[in-house]
Amino acid sequence: LEREEPTHFGAGPAQLPTEVLQQAAKDLINYNNLGLGIGEISHRSKDATKVIEDSKLHLKELMNIPDTHEVFFMQGGGTTGFSSLATNLAAAYVGKTGTIAPAGYLVTGSWSLKSYQEANRLHVPAEIIFNAKDYHGGKFGYIPKEEEWCDKVKGKKYSFVYLCENETVHGVEWPKLPQCLVDDNEIEIVADLSSDILSRQVDVSQYGVIMAGAQKNIGLAGLTVYIIKKSILKNIEKADETQLHEFGIPVTPIASDYPTVVKNNSAYNTIPIFTLHVMDLVFQHLIKKGGVASQEAENKTKAKILYEALDSYPDFYNMPVEKSCRSTMNVVFTLKKEGLDDKFLEEAGKRKLTGLKGHRSVGGFRASIYNALSLATIEKLVKFVKEFAEENQ
Ligand code: PLP
Repeated sequence: LEREEPTHFGAGPAQLPTEVLQQAAKDLINYNNLGLGIGEISHRSKDATKVIEDSKLHLKELMNIPDTHEVFFMQGGGTTGFSSLATNLAAAYVGKTGTIAPAGYLVTGSWSLKSYQEANRLHVPAEIIFNAKDYHGGKFGYIPKEEEWCDKVKGKKYSFVYLCENETVHGVEWPKLPQCLVDDNEIEIVADLSSDILSRQVDVSQYGVIMAGAQKNIGLAGLTVYIIKKSILKNIEKADETQLHEFGIPVTPIASDYPTVVKNNSAYNTIPIFTLHVMDLVFQHLIKKGGVASQEAENKTKAKILYEALDSYPDFYNMPVEKSCRSTMNVVFTLKKEGLDDKFLEEAGKRKLTGLKGHRSVGGFRASIYNALSLATIEKLVKFVKEFAEENQ
């Protein structure tokens, strides 16, 4: 069960700490000397329930989750999150007010756009508050300043306001939550943290719901984490189905109905318990490493040295994202000279630096530097981007 420390910069599923995978591999075969693997037991057994409880406890500890919020897990990923957030949150608004209002989406890249499109497809009333492309020459790579859009939100009723904290494809990350939303007590902020959860500290009390697919910083694909205000759960329960029908809002499928999942301790239907166990091992690993604060400091250093290296060759590397919203997790860049892309990947591959190709919709390159990638690994990439520029400019 050995491997060389991987130096893979793929956007996801991402690399996980080797020692986590070693433990997971053992537990897949024989968990706690049960003579059975952790994936071979009932999701309602004592051992499985303990995995669910431990994962919740460890996540609460890592993110300092207040008692006002509940944690639960569901099958699926970010995309299933887009659908379930739209219908559950619309129901919460109906339950709270007896009326309906549109959800407002802050579009900063392709994932927030997809989430808006899904709300639309489901006939959940939704509108775009801003599309960042409109402020940046038709391309993602910028987050408009609050004075450019906050007025649109003031005094207007939204069922919730949605944003994606880190746009994985475009390498655009909100430096922090927009203050005008945080200051407005009427607004429930709903955020996709799929590609930056546990990469930096956040104040959970500011969010109505946090949704995060597991396969970047916290585990394997197949499971999604939700952190939700308990008052929102109560409002979803209050929503009258006849009224939802009247407003043309779909009732949420039962396995994605947040109050149902919470009441059944995340095991209303079969939760992939092995996948959750891997997630818990990642949580424990991070706690041992010093928690989110120390991981955040390391991530900042990793991103800083890589951006500095790329910035130091302005005639060679093109950086499409404004400095104010550059992602700490996904570093996106292109080459100014044409015809060198294949050579870049080939030369990187010779040094075992893999997974650097940009998303098919954007092109160029993307170095995803999630939690599991060490500073030493980033230093190898920094050395390479410098040498490649020197040799080919
Ligand atoms: N949201 C973000 C920020 C993502 O990066 C991704 C996938 O990469 C998704 C949502 C969609 O996740 P999934 O593929 O699990 O549906």
